Amino acid sequence: MKPNIISLGELLVEIMRTEVDVPHGRIGSYYKGPFPSGAPAIFIDSATRMSKSFNLTTGFIGVVGNDEFGEGVLKKLQSDGVDISKIRIDNSRTTGIAFNQYNSDGSRKFIFAAGAAGQTSPDDIDEEYFSNVKVLHIMGSSLSISENSRESCYKAIEIAKSLNPQTIISFDPNLRPEMLDIKTIIEISKPVLDKTTILFPSGEEAEMLAGVKGEVKACRKLLKKGLKLVVLKQGKEGCSIFSSGLVDEIRVPGFEVEEIDPTGAGDSFDGAFIVGYLAGWDLKRIGMFANAAGALKVQFLGPMVDSTYEEVLKLMETA
Ligand code: ATP
Ligand code: MG
Repeated sequence: MKPNIISLGELLVEIMRTEVDVPHGRIGSYYKGPFPSGAPAIFIDSATRMSKSFNLTTGFIGVVGNDEFGEGVLKKLQSDGVDISKIRIDNSRTTGIAFNQYNSDGSRKFIFAAGAAGQTSPDDIDEEYFSNVKVLHIMGSSLSISENSRESCYKAIEIAKSLNPQTIISFDPNLRPEMLDIKTIIEISKPVLDKTTILFPSGEEAEMLAGVKGEVKACRKLLKKGLKLVVLKQGKEGCSIFSSGLVDEIRVPGFEVEEIDPTGAGDSFDGAFIVGYLAGWDLKRIGMFANAAGALKVQFLGPMVDSTYEEVLKLMETA
């Protein structure tokens, strides 16, 4: 298999508090899970489910432990159609685990055991695997989790671009200031940003990367770095698309739905956006498609959902 859309980095299970505002430290309180997770994995799963009608193939490079958590993650990706032949099993570590606590103010708190998730290494990046790549998607969290994972991302970009200079590099900064300080995050993001075609920031991330206040101003400044598109994710408000070919941004309102679990909405959005982009749709339609994929995600528990292309189109029609 030589996939058209490739992502790489951390594969995880998420285990979450059953109720909001219950600190991880409260002894004897309940969690539920495991739910397959890891930002780049959520991206590839979404892109795969959305690309069924377009004859696009997808693949993932990463590492799980030799345990049932790993089996569960692999099963979910494989049953949705992701090529998992480049996912390595590490016999000496457990699959990565994120314990997640939700709070009523919308904030989240993680306890993170990286295990095998940080073990993706440049040796896992095989040049031949990239011979049909159209889009390589990088997540900021995969740059932060370990030096090996970061170097793998840099190597993947280099290979994809050298095989085909037209390869689209999409980048979701997915900043995790709890993992690294902002200065370091900006430093390690730069080599990726320099090669990025489509950037998927939240408002806060755009401001941090651009070093200016105001999300619109920040996105305009980032676009000037030579990016083709900056796609600003705005939660329930939807998204705004800044294009190097347009003076004004395209505002695409979100869908009104009940939010049960927001984790993974951004990554699911990215996956759908990339598929719409490869399908050659106009930017407004791509934005609506991605908003619908994000809105469908938040209605279900767990970062990786089962929504189909048809379900996303159906929600789009309600706009
Ligand atoms: P994360 O990194 O936590 O996944 P993000 O900041 O990357 O999040 P969000 O803006 O939270 O991304 O969500 C991505 C997209 O999902 C939004 O642009 C929107 O289209 C959709 N979305 C998110 N939350 C909601 C909601 N409550 N109602 C409807 N759509 C939503
Ligand atoms: Mg995000």
